[in-house]
Amino acid sequence: MSKELDIRKNLFNIDLKPEALALPLYRLEELYAKLPETKGCTSCGKCCKVQCPNMYYIEFLHILTYMQDNFDKPTVDGIFSKSFQNAISLAQDKQCPFLDDKNKCMIYEVRHYNCRVYGIIPKGEYQDRVKQAKKRLGVENISLEKQCDKVSIDGEGSNKGLNDIFEQLKQLEEEIGVSKNMVRLIGGSYLTFHDMLILHFFHDNDGIIECINQLKVIADDDPKKIEFTKLFEEQLLSSDRSLIY
Ligand code: SF4
Ligand code: SF4
Repeated sequence: MSKELDIRKNLFNIDLKPEALALPLYRLEELYAKLPETKGCTSCGKCCKVQCPNMYYIEFLHILTYMQDNFDKPTVDGIFSKSFQNAISLAQDKQCPFLDDKNKCMIYEVRHYNCRVYGIIPKGEYQDRVKQAKKRLGVENISLEKQCDKVSIDGEGSNKGLNDIFEQLKQLEEEIGVSKNMVRLIGGSYLTFHDMLILHFFHDNDGIIECINQLKVIADDDPKKIEFTKLFEEQLLSSDRSLIY
């Protein structure tokens, strides 16, 4: 990989200057604030050890901005490294890179929609999602067949409006410049953090997605995979760079 990283390039050609992102990120926080408060999570970490829930690009940028403002370089590098391992792994269960060694979410304040509603999605809707995920992955079972039953809505809140809020999230995604077709397409701009990260930094320069897809099917202890992984990680972690702009 010979080209310098250009972090201003991004998959959707969106203006990433702070002044351009300020309003959409503010509106995203407003949307999150409409979600009901939950109670009951014991922070056992079980759910976060087997999944990296999908997010929209606006949510990804929100998380990157938070990381830029709050994490030092070794912490960011650790998250990137785990994310890269997830990106090249064929394993179905992947631990979220934001789960720390005390089973705490490192980005709790800015966690994305899916993490906020896990446990309170109406049962039928959750089962539909499970069905779709199985179809997409071509598997018969997934780890989170059922939602955690320890989590419930706190106080007077309700889960009736969750779909509406999700729709508003899609609209916000379109408003930052992601094309409607892309947002509405399954797998369009709704990806895991690790896939977003690769696309954000490399913009598919040098056919990186194809490289990663090829790496995925090679055994983890294959010397070529180890060598390429090392080179790629060096590139990903190199230099002083800001994450957003
Ligand atoms: S939501 Fe449930 S499974 Fe996930 S960390 Fe909380 S208690 Fe554990
Ligand atoms: S972002 Fe936080 S809450 Fe969501 S899966 Fe990762 S560690 Fe868990």
